[in-house]
Amino acid sequence: MGEYILGLDIGGTNIRIGAVDKESEVHYFEKVYQKTVFTNSKSVDNLIEFISNYISKYQLTGQVVAIAIAVPATISKDCTTVLQAPSLPGFDNLNLLAPLEEYFGIKVFLLKDVWTAALYDIHKYHLNTGGLIAACYVGTGIGNVFLYNGEIYKGKNGVSGELGHIPIPESKLACGCGNIGCIENYAGGKYLAKYCQHSKIDIETVFSSMPKEDIDNYINYIAIAIATEINILDPDSVLLGGGVLNMEGFPYELLKEKIYQHTRKPFPNDNLNLVFVSDDSTKGVVGAAMYARKMGV
Ligand SMILES: [Zn+2]
Repeated sequence: MGEYILGLDIGGTNIRIGAVDKESEVHYFEKVYQKTVFTNSKSVDNLIEFISNYISKYQLTGQVVAIAIAVPATISKDCTTVLQAPSLPGFDNLNLLAPLEEYFGIKVFLLKDVWTAALYDIHKYHLNTGGLIAACYVGTGIGNVFLYNGEIYKGKNGVSGELGHIPIPESKLACGCGNIGCIENYAGGKYLAKYCQHSKIDIETVFSSMPKEDIDNYINYIAIAIATEINILDPDSVLLGGGVLNMEGFPYELLKEKIYQHTRKPFPNDNLNLVFVSDDSTKGVVGAAMYARKMGV
């Protein structure tokens, strides 16, 4: 009999699930389309059914000691309720914890997807957790979290690290968060997708077909967001990853150059530790389980 934490990484497109053992090894990993799980407005019932089926399928009854669920959303500071999830219809103001704990009778954890990514990457890249680690993941939007002495800094309401929502002066673009002019509309993958659609470029090869001026402009927005965080926090290390940074031909050197251009001299500029991280498929699942272990499971 094993002892596992079920890790779930609910994304805007896919749900990843796996049984993570004490050595942080993942077993029975699966990736399924989110829409095949959330088939109607009863999101909690859909999720319970999905998890139950998974436990039955791999005969894990009695071996799962906790469930950790990562969502691309803001969540309440007590980590019980999804506050706002633009890519998960039906999840806004939804308490996930209480009904799941009642149904499964084990501890359930709800967390932001970027927390899982940072915990996983800190472990994988052997970062010293003393001091301050900032993590920026550029995907559809910009995921961000910072940890002080290994502890996730959550903020007064649990919504710290919303780096993608730095306002850009004069911009009139509406953001998924409800505000106008947020930087993630310029620096995130959403912008790239729109750019490719408009200029009829294949997104797979965008960095080799985009004119230099447009690449410069796009990368500069990413660098502005990251450098802003660096200038505020003076972090010991900065993890840089996410879907966009892991795309074919992504110009890392240009991003580095632009980050250095915008960071304050001489410090933090002269002593930056930028760590580019890969986009491992099991990151969210393993990271979610790591969070549960960190919380004492
Ligand atoms: Zn916004």
